[in-house]
Amino acid sequence: MLQIKNLHAAYGKVEVLHGISIDVPQGKVVTLIGSNGAGKTTTMRAVSGMIKPAGGEIRLNGKNITGMASHKIARTGLAHSPEGRRVFSTLSVTDNLFLGAFPRLTFGRERGNVQGDLDRVFDLFPRLQERREQLAGTLSGGEQQMLAMGRALMLNPEVLLLDEPSMGLAPLLVKEVFRIIRELKSRGITMLLVEQFAAAALNVADYGYVMENGRISCHGPAEQLKNDPAVKAAYLGAA
Ligand code: ATP
Repeated sequence: MLQIKNLHAAYGKVEVLHGISIDVPQGKVVTLIGSNGAGKTTTMRAVSGMIKPAGGEIRLNGKNITGMASHKIARTGLAHSPEGRRVFSTLSVTDNLFLGAFPRLTFGRERGNVQGDLDRVFDLFPRLQERREQLAGTLSGGEQQMLAMGRALMLNPEVLLLDEPSMGLAPLLVKEVFRIIRELKSRGITMLLVEQFAAAALNVADYGYVMENGRISCHGPAEQLKNDPAVKAAYLGAA
C-alpha cells in the first residue's frame, strides 16, 4: 500500500535521512521506533509532502507520490496527524473537523458523506462532541491532540500517518489513544505510527522498524522486535 524506497531527506545541506526503506502493507499497522532526532518525524513529513525528499521514491497504491504537494497527496487518501497540536485555534472544533475533509471535497477521490464521517469522529472522541462549538485554541492540550487526530480521520484516509499521538497526554488519555488506534485498525485503516511509548506501539503494530541516525538499523514483526534483547535494552526500558 505505502512503499518508501531509499528515501533521502535534508534540511538545507544537512542530510538527516540517508536512504531508508519502509513497507506498510494494506490494513496493517507499522511502527517506527527510534531515539530523539533519529529522523522519524522527518520521514512522516517527507511521505505526506510537507518536505521534499532529496532522493528515493514513495509510492501509494503503486502511484509515485514522491515530491508531490501535500494537498495533492491528501487527495490520494493519505492523512497525516502531525507531531504537536496543529489545530486552527480561532476556529471551532467542528470547523476544524470540516477542514479535514476539504481536500477530498475539492477534487477528492469521492465526496462521501461528510456528516456521517463527522458523526463517526464524534463517536470515537465523545469529548470533541461535547466541545464542538468551542474554539480549538481554548481546548486542553490533550483535547487538541484528539482534534488533530479527528481532523486527519475526516479525510476518510486509506493510510494514516500518526506522529506521536500520545505526546503530552495524561496516562488515561494515552490509553484512550491506543484504544482508538486499535479501533481504527479494526476498521481497516492502514497506519504508520511513531510513538514515544515503543512497547505500547509494538503491542498494537504488526511490524516495526528501528531507526538510528537517519537509517533503519533493524526491522521485523512486532512480536519479534518486542523480544529482541537489543531493542528491549535501547527502547523498551528493560534489559
Ligand atoms: P523526536 O523523537 O525527538 O521527535 P525524530 O526521530 O522525529 O525525533 P526528526 O524530528 O525527524 O527526529 O529530526 C531528525 C533530525 O533533523 C534532527 O537532528 C533534527 O535536529 C533535524 N531537524 C528536524 N527538523 C529540522 C528543521 N526544520 N531544520 C533543521 N533541522 C531539522
